Amino acid sequence: MSGFIPVNEPLLDGNERAYLAECIETGWISSEGPFVARLEEGMARLTGRAHGVAVTNGSEALELAVEILGIGPGDEVIIPAFTIISCAAPIVRRGAIPVVADADSRTWTMDVSALEALVTPRTRAIMAVHIYGLPVDMEPVLDFAARHGLSVIEDAAEAHGQMYRGRPCGSFGDVSVFSFYPNKHVTTGEGGMVLVDDDALASAGRSKRNLCFEPERRFVHRELGYNMRMSNLQAAVGVAQLERLPEFIARKRTMGERYTQLLADVPGLELPAAETSYAHNDYWVYGLVLADEVPADAREVMRRLAERGTGTRPFFYPMHLQPAFLERGLFAGVSCPVAERLGERGFYIPSGLALTDAQIERSAESVAGVMVELAGVR
Ligand SMILES: *Cc1c(COP(=O)(O)O)cnc(C)c1O
Repeated sequence: MSGFIPVNEPLLDGNERAYLAECIETGWISSEGPFVARLEEGMARLTGRAHGVAVTNGSEALELAVEILGIGPGDEVIIPAFTIISCAAPIVRRGAIPVVADADSRTWTMDVSALEALVTPRTRAIMAVHIYGLPVDMEPVLDFAARHGLSVIEDAAEAHGQMYRGRPCGSFGDVSVFSFYPNKHVTTGEGGMVLVDDDALASAGRSKRNLCFEPERRFVHRELGYNMRMSNLQAAVGVAQLERLPEFIARKRTMGERYTQLLADVPGLELPAAETSYAHNDYWVYGLVLADEVPADAREVMRRLAERGTGTRPFFYPMHLQPAFLERGLFAGVSCPVAERLGERGFYIPSGLALTDAQIERSAESVAGVMVELAGVR
């Protein structure tokens, strides 16, 4: 009952060990092994996509998505301000310009009512990112993209098995992207995937992932690619994980609902929305936002929670405030008040699949304890 509660611990007690042993016994450990294709097929089936292209991680999957869509110098791509750097970096690296949309204060996903004001003649694409367990409102995003002739990248790194109006996340737009980092619903240790329906995008993705080797004469290259190949060892873990996805999602929902029960009456906290008109939260992580009257920011609350043995992570830090981008002259004068507030006042508490009910109760008690302490300060 004691000990530090880590913010994430994955659950690896299915067929992971058996499939890894199979890799070692057969000698298939590189990307040529059979588990890679099995994981690609499994993810394509999950999302109803024609093709999956497994890569080294979710950030590289976004690099590959931006690359195969041909986004280049001067193009503008609309992204949420409240997301991970992996969404913006591939755009900036190709000489294109990320344009940020603020977050919605209830769902923490991109505020779709803000999109129309961000379009210019140079807008080429929009990146829709599902955040912390709730999908972006995809219908308005798809309508908007169709109206302006934009490509759509769907970042479903946090949304394996999640549904939007009964359709799987990862099935929308031209290219969708997943991560298999250990805190994601399905992990391969490190790993990611690009999913597409278009055959030409799929073959471009496969070629770019593998250094653009020419089929007729290996080691001759007409284009420059990358080595983004996933190993059979990683894919073996992923195949075992994917077998249990429905169980994992059900567990995350139970965990999230339990946290909400335990924290509902604690003053000073904004809890995650249980549902929207288009989706039910699956609490990829259980996020909390400190109400404005709380006389501390997330950093201070996280410090106090660590003292009580509860692991946390801060929320994303907004893209338009990133020093790496400001130095490049991007986002001068841009303001996104909701994303800025989330970045200051948001954090998440232990949410990994290995978390026990007792640990959930202890984490919630720590949070309640810290909030009572802070209420005394006022
Ligand atoms: C985790 C994550 C990524 C990056 O994936 P990695 O595998 O860690 O590189 C990209 N986008 C979102 C929304 C994520 O949560």
